[in-house]
Amino acid sequence: MSRAHNFSAGPSALPVSVLTELAEELPELGGSGMSVLEMSHRSGPYEAVHNDTLDRLRRLSAAPDEVDILLVQGGATLQFAMVPYNLLPADGTAAYAMTGSWAAKAEADAARIGRVHEAWVRPDGDPLRMPHRGELDVPAGAAYLHATSNETIEGIRYPDLSVLADAGTTVVTDMSSDIFTRPIDWDVVDVVYAGSQKNLGPAGVTVVWVKRELLDRVPDSVPTYLRYRTHAEGNSLANTPPVFAIWAMGKTLAWIEASGGVAAMESRAAKRSGRVYEVIDRSGGFYASPVLPEHRSLTNLVFRLPDDETQAAFLAGAEAEGMSNLKGHRSVGGVRASIYNALDDGSVEALVSYMERFAGDR
Ligand SMILES: *Cc1c(COP(=O)(O)O)cnc(C)c1O
Repeated sequence: MSRAHNFSAGPSALPVSVLTELAEELPELGGSGMSVLEMSHRSGPYEAVHNDTLDRLRRLSAAPDEVDILLVQGGATLQFAMVPYNLLPADGTAAYAMTGSWAAKAEADAARIGRVHEAWVRPDGDPLRMPHRGELDVPAGAAYLHATSNETIEGIRYPDLSVLADAGTTVVTDMSSDIFTRPIDWDVVDVVYAGSQKNLGPAGVTVVWVKRELLDRVPDSVPTYLRYRTHAEGNSLANTPPVFAIWAMGKTLAWIEASGGVAAMESRAAKRSGRVYEVIDRSGGFYASPVLPEHRSLTNLVFRLPDDETQAAFLAGAEAEGMSNLKGHRSVGGVRASIYNALDDGSVEALVSYMERFAGDR
């Protein structure tokens, strides 16, 4: 089989070595006579898998002891509700930095649950960007500030998350599309969540990091599954967990660790995205980025071509060379190349070479 150059925004490419291991080890886990899909989640062999995945998450995130790591279902989308259910009291206000499509979805769900305040909206006419230092308007006494560290659809990211610390309140960050491509600064953030299907493994599990002191805020009215405490106290085994997704995530995390960990992923992401942005910036306007240069995403690279016809030709030509999923999100158009950790360097080089050739031929 020849592997596609898969630039999907999620679910996205996994390391071939992980896929091969999953296939080989699927029929039987650790001499148990059955697969991970068939055994009790209370069994020894499964618990070993579960705890191994949690250990790897703790190491890679450098999470201090006072941070609980939870494995839950419902995607990052369920966190749009779980965050306010757990952290927004009836008489409180939550601040949301309205940076793009995912932040807007998070805010919309919070507004169904409690009072929200828009801490920042991009001024009309500005390029796509995140708020600068000093621009966030967080009301005194806000329960938390919610930020999307990387907007997957718009292709923007906070170059430095410390701008969030200025809020002077609990900081909650959706890191679904840049988790483990940058370190997590625990002096700045208090809650982090990320769906698995972009940088962590296949779809089906969501990781939540939460400082333990925040677990006491949840009102009694919140149902069992939606309470962070349920998962923290039950070692994320309070109910049947998504065993396959957790097993496969553990293998993907092992691959990240063997590849040098988060520091290596971060410099690789900077280098690889830099290769593509360089082609854009040197194209004399043929390729155009709508993003403020310092706020360009390292994982979701958004750009445009001169007109729809040229863009369609670009996408068709890319497809013919084995490059798939380069079409931008339907809400913003353009081209989007998602370059997550597991994508091969060869795929990035194939894209760079194609972009240079395509522009040169015009
Ligand atoms: C993909 C994505 C989501 C939604 O994740 P699901 O797991 O599909 O619910 C939320 N936030 C961001 C930043 C994303 O990239």
